[in-house]
Amino acid sequence: MNNIVLKEKEYAEKILDSNTLDKKPTFDLRILAKYYCHEKKLTQNKIYLELVNVMEEKYNNFALSKWQPILLDLAKNAKKYKLIDIEYIPITKNELLTIDGIVSKPMKRLALTLLCLAKYRNIVNPKNNDWVGYKFKDIFKMANINSTKKEQGFMIHDMIALQLVRMNKMVNNLSINVCYVDKDNSEEVLQIKDFRNIGYEYLLYCGENFIRCKECGILVRQNKQSNKIFCTECNKYKPQETKTIKCIDCGKEIIVDGIVKNKKRCDKCQHKYNNSSRMKNYYKKKYQEGYLQKFDNNFYLLKDNPLELFKNGYRITQILNPDFDEWYNEDGSEIRYPFLVNFEFNNRNVLYCAKLIEGKLDFM
Ligand SMILES: [Zn+2]
Ligand SMILES: [Zn+2]
Repeated sequence: MNNIVLKEKEYAEKILDSNTLDKKPTFDLRILAKYYCHEKKLTQNKIYLELVNVMEEKYNNFALSKWQPILLDLAKNAKKYKLIDIEYIPITKNELLTIDGIVSKPMKRLALTLLCLAKYRNIVNPKNNDWVGYKFKDIFKMANINSTKKEQGFMIHDMIALQLVRMNKMVNNLSINVCYVDKDNSEEVLQIKDFRNIGYEYLLYCGENFIRCKECGILVRQNKQSNKIFCTECNKYKPQETKTIKCIDCGKEIIVDGIVKNKKRCDKCQHKYNNSSRMKNYYKKKYQEGYLQKFDNNFYLLKDNPLELFKNGYRITQILNPDFDEWYNEDGSEIRYPFLVNFEFNNRNVLYCAKLIEGKLDFM
């Protein structure tokens, strides 16, 4: 799960100001789509075009055909969800009295985290009634508690025993109902503005030594010398030099990483170039070998030769699109053949990896 962002408008403007997008940009794109819809009042079609612009400008090796369904979907759904703009989550005196009364230190952090999540959900959805439906793994991470799955289960169980929370009776539903949300509106004593390290927020409130990173604002422990100003991430981050090059085909200026040596064209022109005579010859050869297959008006380049399958009577019946996040391997490298081509014969299925070929191969 991505972090919960309280001020989505500010966050969207930050994304638009920066030069690059996250490697897995769907979370940020979703917020941008809402920003264009509710803040800039753009129509669905205009939102889509803006998202394409952002991707072209800030995302390495952006391939429209690959991202188009995702961007269309985000543009379409932008209207359904409000742009969240919460100054802070207020924690009241009564709530802190409850949390302070818990004996176990980690459980105090867990209690504050669950409280913040419940109050956040109550704001986003007024009918929420103090429920929290996030994964345990994510909740405990926000609470800064290192624990195994088993330990997590025990801690939640202890919280139930103390009647601090209730669980849904339905099996397979791990939603938690927080029972100590202040209904008397007692005095506000603590403001939570950042959900990344809620556990630390509690320790800070208890007087322990923390700093907010000067770069990204995350709350981290101060060191013994008391001279830390950045979090570990921001400290090791050395901004990479970028350079501007002019596309040799259309003349448009594009920003690339300093280390990039062989980029000569903007993504759009590269696209066209890829369908040049050299690529045409390559694809023709692949077409004859069977690696290139047409399905639903798209061409897919298969990783392996399918001729044996065809000989045995198999036919392509379906193309399975990859999930949003599965364009990448675990190590962050791009999956070269993210699509799955389903071959079928006599109720038997064989899946082959493939990639979608850009542009129209109308010379085939
Ligand atoms: Zn930082
Ligand atoms: Zn160009």
